[in-house]
Amino acid sequence: MSVFISGASGFIAQHIIKQLLSKGYQVVGTVRSAAKGQRLQENFGPSFQYEIVPDITATGAFDEALKKHLDSVKYVLHTASPFFYNTTQPERDLIIPAIQGTKNILGSITQYAPKVSKVVITSSDAAIYSAEDEQNSALSFDETSWNNISYADACKDPIYAYYGAKSFAEKLAWEFLKVEVPDFDLVAINPVYVFGPQAFDSEVKKELNTSNEYIYSLIKNGPHASFDNAKGSYVDVRDVARAHVAALDDEKLVGKRLFLTNGQFSIQMILDTLREKFPQLASQLPEGTPGSGPEDIKSLAKSSNEATRKLLGFEFRNLDTIVEDTIEQILRVNPQ
Ligand code: NDP
Repeated sequence: MSVFISGASGFIAQHIIKQLLSKGYQVVGTVRSAAKGQRLQENFGPSFQYEIVPDITATGAFDEALKKHLDSVKYVLHTASPFFYNTTQPERDLIIPAIQGTKNILGSITQYAPKVSKVVITSSDAAIYSAEDEQNSALSFDETSWNNISYADACKDPIYAYYGAKSFAEKLAWEFLKVEVPDFDLVAINPVYVFGPQAFDSEVKKELNTSNEYIYSLIKNGPHASFDNAKGSYVDVRDVARAHVAALDDEKLVGKRLFLTNGQFSIQMILDTLREKFPQLASQLPEGTPGSGPEDIKSLAKSSNEATRKLLGFEFRNLDTIVEDTIEQILRVNPQ
């Protein structure tokens, strides 16, 4: 029985694939180039196959890849979606791929993969609240919340675009289910900032994926660098992967949005942990205002994911563990 996963080269996707392989699944992953597929193949071994889908926005983008595996694919995980903010064309680079990619994969499954019984969409907390609302302590959010970003506003800048794109794409998936009434069930996974080690040491590059770069840049930019004391919520990539794997065969999770958060953080908290756990890095870290973390996060909206925690029934890793494991891997690969 195999699992088809889009965006197999991604930070989160590689952890999902690793866990799927360890549970005995065969995995087919889509990538944008043969070079990326080859690298994954070397790391994952023979139970992993790749298919090249060069452009997820093209009509029928996933048709050929799915047709090749229609007899074996039972589950589909859609993780491929842009996550970055450095673009001057947010609609083209962030919104359209998120929407079209989701539309295309659901359409291909319906037409060409009748044995698929479950589809899991990697959405985001960005679909739950806007970047502004997340920073408003008067507000509260949970699994039932949606951001209120309009398409016109989403086109304004990359942050609005990313947040808008994630809600447009996820809503499209739920709407598809209502209108098309396909034979598969749907689960959405809505993680907050996902941190943690890369699935393989060889994936530690000069620049990491968008979320981990918040941590890595602290040790790369030097003690005099100004840093944005960003605040938000955190969760470990290994727990995010575990939730995706659970969503495949746990019937309790059908039709749910799983809001994956283990609490709130500020960059200052991460800095304080780095100083404590890695004293050898102290001279290259900015100081900030040590100890201000608990005060920093008071300005954030309240988030509740009790329903998700109850459904999943496992504990998420804490911030110290995540930061330690992330930095240990970076130091192993790039000794400072
Ligand atoms: P990565 O950037 O590491 O992975 C993104 C994946 O999507 C890569 O495989 C990438 O392919 C693929 N992709 C991006 N844009 C396109 C495109 N236009 N066409 C085809 N493939 C594309 O990010 P993450 O692993 O962190 O994110 C994976 C998913 O999780 C995304 O949907 C993201 O929105 C969501 N998410 C991430 C969070 C985080 O903090 N990391 C938080 C909440 C949600 P390639 O390698 O070729 O670029």
